[in-house]
Amino acid sequence: MSDISAKAAEAFTAAYGEEPAGLWAAPGRVNLIGEHTDYNDGFVLPFALPQRTVAAVGPSPDGTFSVCSTLAPEPVTFGATEPGEVTGWGAYVAGVVWALREAGFEPPAARIAIDSEVPLGSGLSSSAALESSVLTALIDLGGLDVPLERRPAIAQRAENLYVGAPTGILDQSASIRCEAGKALFLDCRSYEIEQIPFDLAAEDLAILVINSNAPHQHVDGEYGARRKSCEESAAILGVAALRDVSVDGLPDALDRLGDEVLRKRTRHIVTENQRVLDTVALLRAGRVREIGPLLTASHVSMRDDFEITVAQVDVAVETALAAGAYGARMTGGGFGGCVLALVDTARADETAAAVTAAYADRGFTAPTSWVAVAGPGATKL
Ligand code: ADP
Ligand code: MG
Repeated sequence: MSDISAKAAEAFTAAYGEEPAGLWAAPGRVNLIGEHTDYNDGFVLPFALPQRTVAAVGPSPDGTFSVCSTLAPEPVTFGATEPGEVTGWGAYVAGVVWALREAGFEPPAARIAIDSEVPLGSGLSSSAALESSVLTALIDLGGLDVPLERRPAIAQRAENLYVGAPTGILDQSASIRCEAGKALFLDCRSYEIEQIPFDLAAEDLAILVINSNAPHQHVDGEYGARRKSCEESAAILGVAALRDVSVDGLPDALDRLGDEVLRKRTRHIVTENQRVLDTVALLRAGRVREIGPLLTASHVSMRDDFEITVAQVDVAVETALAAGAYGARMTGGGFGGCVLALVDTARADETAAAVTAAYADRGFTAPTSWVAVAGPGATKL
């Protein structure tokens, strides 16, 4: 049993005085490319991290739900609730129960204990890992017939409507639908998916993930402002979403958007969608190294047009490129979080060391780095 599985099971026994009926795991994710495109009905390409959240779950004796975490050992208990009734971290779990009911499924009353190795609030989606582990557990435990393709939207509704965080469908889709050795090409309008081969080790390549450990600032407000600008631009252009503007149609669209901020935001989304399609085409053709320039172009677009980077992530990208990375970009919603760099496996350690040294020179909090291999999506252990 892995360390987090053992810790989740121990937390269950400590809180409820019995063994769990089973263990379910769901991963955090990194987005290879396609940032802020999900709520523009566009394309994303995440893969699942090896870091996972484990839910130890068993039936409840009294019809209520209880949930505790190694980070919050005192169980939160609730029955049938509406959004707003459970607050704090328990809202992610109460939200999943609520969203299942809303979707017409009756989840079994359960006791739940959580442990996780996904860093919280680093843009690696510990929130989706939490929702997805609990959702998968309740579906399995209750024998609910919820098709895999419906599950991400249920977890997303929990986060959007119960927790109150206006995220797109990317995180939950990744945590639930990713497969080992694959990147998940997701069309956020049709929810169609394609598993794209992403076996970097075969090419002696690696994705180095660098957690900037930069304090997240103004994230919610800035995220909301970006969404609003995108919706405003789409309305002016007379399209349902910015997904409907092609790269060929971009010059004309920019002419019609008088406002410089709207022009920049639109340019990022339109070019980013194209970069996802180009990345997928290269991966399908086995030309993995060549995605590097697309990753770097994505970062430049996030930095200059979408304006969601901070000094720490810019320095990590510049340093990784100077150390020989094929490409590098911030991943996640922005204003801190993580950077990924495509590197020769043999150079991963020295690239990480170069970023650590660059941070020390500038007096930034030290970063944390590791090589990420595409892992499986949510599953019973
Ligand atoms: P991210 O998803 O990028 O990690 P979020 O702010 O979306 O950041 O989600 C983090 C929140 O999810 C935490 O503040 C906490 O409420 C909840 N959460 C995630 N994992 C756990 C856990 N293992 N135990 C308790 N709460 C958790
Ligand atoms: Mg999150």
